[in-house]
Amino acid sequence: MADRYQTFDHDVLVIGAGGAGMRAAIAAAEAGLSVGLVCKSLLGKAHTVMAEGGIAAALGNVDPQDNWQVHFADTMRGGQMINDYRMVEIFAKEAPDRVLELERWGGLFDRTADGKILQRPFGAHTYRRLCHVGDRTGLELIRTLQDKAVHSGVTVHMELTLTRLLNEAERIAGAFGYRREDGQPVLFRAKAVLLGTGGWGKVYKVTSNSWECTGDGCAMAYEAGAELMDMEMVQFHPTGMVWPPGVRGILVTEAVRGEGGILRNASGERFMQRYDPKKMDLSSRDVVSRSIYKEVQAGRGSPHGGAFLDISHRGAEFIKKKLPSMYDQFLTLADIDITKSPMEVAPTIHYVMGGVRVEAGTGATTVPGLFAAGEVAAGLHGANRLGGNSLSDLLVFGKRAGEHAAAYVRALRSVPVPDERRAAEEWSFLQRPFEAGGNENPYAIHEEIQDVMGTFAGIARTGEQLAEGLQKILALQGRAERLRASGSMLFNPGWHTCRDVRFMLTLCEAIFRSAIERRESRGAHWRLDFPDQDPAWGARNIIVRLGDAGMQVDTRPVPPLPAELARLMQAA
Ligand SMILES: Cc1cc2nc3c(=O)[nH]c(=O)nc-3n(C[C@H](O)[C@H](O)[C@H](O)COP(=O)(O)OP(=O)(O)OC[C@H]3O[C@@H](n4cnc5c(N)ncnc54)[C@H](O)[C@@H]3O)c2cc1C
Repeated sequence: MADRYQTFDHDVLVIGAGGAGMRAAIAAAEAGLSVGLVCKSLLGKAHTVMAEGGIAAALGNVDPQDNWQVHFADTMRGGQMINDYRMVEIFAKEAPDRVLELERWGGLFDRTADGKILQRPFGAHTYRRLCHVGDRTGLELIRTLQDKAVHSGVTVHMELTLTRLLNEAERIAGAFGYRREDGQPVLFRAKAVLLGTGGWGKVYKVTSNSWECTGDGCAMAYEAGAELMDMEMVQFHPTGMVWPPGVRGILVTEAVRGEGGILRNASGERFMQRYDPKKMDLSSRDVVSRSIYKEVQAGRGSPHGGAFLDISHRGAEFIKKKLPSMYDQFLTLADIDITKSPMEVAPTIHYVMGGVRVEAGTGATTVPGLFAAGEVAAGLHGANRLGGNSLSDLLVFGKRAGEHAAAYVRALRSVPVPDERRAAEEWSFLQRPFEAGGNENPYAIHEEIQDVMGTFAGIARTGEQLAEGLQKILALQGRAERLRASGSMLFNPGWHTCRDVRFMLTLCEAIFRSAIERRESRGAHWRLDFPDQDPAWGARNIIVRLGDAGMQVDTRPVPPLPAELARLMQAA
């Protein structure tokens, strides 16, 4: 095998160098194991680098009343109670330590007057809780982790796409893929594999997500037998750019509203008064997104189908200091000076709450030796993620998954040997688009996927629409059997897209099948034909797995809250 493919050996292979993957790699390396860290782009360029508004942790630096209990209750309420409470408890308790650790490793946050980490308000957080670096928090997080990972002895493999997990019987034994630069095959032998591969916002056209977010890791886990959970829960962020068309979907951070930004409709009315008079502009993302949608439907939208977001009353100096990226973004891309004029915004696909089902404390998936953390993993955020809770998720569960992957490796009695046939199968699958007979353009298929998702699995859904969308995705799956790539394997994005769309189509099928199943409205999942929450569905998570006859959908009880945590919900 080593002769056919460039081959590497690691105890733990971490796929993904965003916040989750890097934090996991550091933990596994600190446990004394050999760790390989693989990413599609250059180190430091993962999607996490784009994070803007901040990282949520109940440090209580600005509002001393804040504590883990309130963060727990906010997160459960935000997720509309289908979150895994065990994950939420761990998360709320450990997030402050992970932030302070990041600071010890060199992360420089904005400060309070007395030198503590400054915290800002954000949607549906009871207290000012988001530690931040202006509106460039992700950059600081990535820089700090990158430095720490390199100095912890992690081996980094950049510009490499892994496309198949390898197994020995039931357990994980490595992964296989190709070098993006020259298309050459690469095989990793590993005793444990940890997914930190992020989300799949690229299945939608209007999205804040980067090109990397095609869901490869989640689809690979599904193909390897792992369970996926709550795939219907896809988050629209209420404020993406709308105009000009080329920038549609780019994020306008929630920090704008955190710092006092006000939403208005075309008549200048503060319409959030109608939908959530208590939290107003800082209501949760699902509520604000639906509110903008309803305003547009009622004919009160902005000229390009959204709403206005105004922060100009805070003054130029404040805006340039607290929101420098937003200031630059609007000036450069839309020729709008946000210190003087309102921004035009509309909902954009931002985050996936669903993903690979993991064990709460360890990140273990249902496949032995396969772990997952970060956006690719499900459970923490339930039906709707609160802003700022992703970055702390990456640190808390990245660390835990890295430690538990290391413990799993240490407890192994024999070294798993990858099934060579799987690697050969994948290599011939990858080369198929170059063979004669294919006639489908991968970019065209990707565009059609995005059209189908936007039209049939958008903010507002009906059973009929979802069923039609599913049929369209199944038809695209058929056409994707005949994908065509031209040119050579030397850096060939068209060929890369052939594999990406296969992953995306699998996840779209899972989104549709799960969305059809959940016959209620909850969080990000808004069914016009079932407009209310149904307590019976509030007690179920939806599970997708690969069965003998293809994708199988099932439900599983949401773990019930123990009495002491249920009391926190009443108290808050
Ligand atoms: C514009 C924007 C602003 C945001 N702001 C905030 C914020 O302020 N606060 C907050 O909490 N959240 C924020 N989020 C959300 C948050 O940034 C993401 O949820 C989070 O960064 C995801 O991190 P991750 O480590 O799970 O994955 P990612 O950062 O997406 O990293 C995935 C990694 O996996 C690699 N990978 C994927 N597939 C493969 C493959 N097949 N082979 C090899 N490598 C692969 C990629 O190359 C990459 O290195 C924001 C998101 C966006 C888009």
